[in-house]
Amino acid sequence: MLNFSTKPLFYSDSGLVRDPLDRKAFDGFSTESWRETAAQWQLYWQGKSLFVGGQALLLERFERAPTVLLGRHEDRQIFALDLSDWDEADALRFAEAQNAEWADLRRYGPALEAGLAARLAYGRGMVYWHQRTQFCGVCGSPTISAEGGHVRRCTSISCGTPHFPRTDPAVIMLVTDETGPEPRVLLGRQAVWPPGMMSTLAGFVEPGESLEEAVRREVWEEVGVRIGDVSYCASQPWPFPSSLMIGFRAQALTFDIIVDPSEIESARWFTQRELLDPDIAQHVAPRPDSIARRLIEDWLSDAAAAR
Ligand SMILES: [Zn+2]
Repeated sequence: MLNFSTKPLFYSDSGLVRDPLDRKAFDGFSTESWRETAAQWQLYWQGKSLFVGGQALLLERFERAPTVLLGRHEDRQIFALDLSDWDEADALRFAEAQNAEWADLRRYGPALEAGLAARLAYGRGMVYWHQRTQFCGVCGSPTISAEGGHVRRCTSISCGTPHFPRTDPAVIMLVTDETGPEPRVLLGRQAVWPPGMMSTLAGFVEPGESLEEAVRREVWEEVGVRIGDVSYCASQPWPFPSSLMIGFRAQALTFDIIVDPSEIESARWFTQRELLDPDIAQHVAPRPDSIARRLIEDWLSDAAAAR
């Protein structure tokens, strides 16, 4: 029996109340109202957030309408504001005045309190969606934000199509071989990763495809291994910019690896003993905030429990 840990994955569990009534009220607010609302502002510039000494800098007020109302948290409205229309000099000057720096959330994310990291990631994904949805995909007219920034509506009277934030499903799978005396898992690496790092295979789900089919197709394409049973483990929002990672354990039916070099650089089987060896583990391990890491760790504790 599979035994997956239930602790929330990083970038999930934001603690936000996502209230549709709050979103409707937001649309009627004036700049004055923004200033008076008990709020926490998450600022973004070119996809980056503000940090002071590795901690996220959040403001209590700001002189502009926010881009999105993310939700309510501990009696405060959490606003995300995109300042990407600032030029670089203005952005740097603003950061300096706060003794802060603009940085990608993934640089400091794993060290942040998990709920805050989830709210920052959510805001980052929403702000990105607004940037990319300025025009209607149906008729090409400009769109305007509505419902607290959770809809962008086409301004053409004859069209009026509402556009909603999108999430792209991606499967991520730990391929296992439980047939031999020593259970093994298959890890691969992409050329752009830090030297030595190996991780689970992953890929986007295609239209007209079930998650299980996507798992089997991706594994076959990347390493030429046939998959039998596919078991769901957990999912993780990954709004960098707009993915939902859906994690599985996938049982291998064949074991020879034929790497597709256009997809990955290398792949090989690792035994439990190898992954528990600190010398190997410190190079191999994927990011601590990733579902890939969780899939591997859960498999290791299952393998330990089975012995
Ligand atoms: Zn339109």
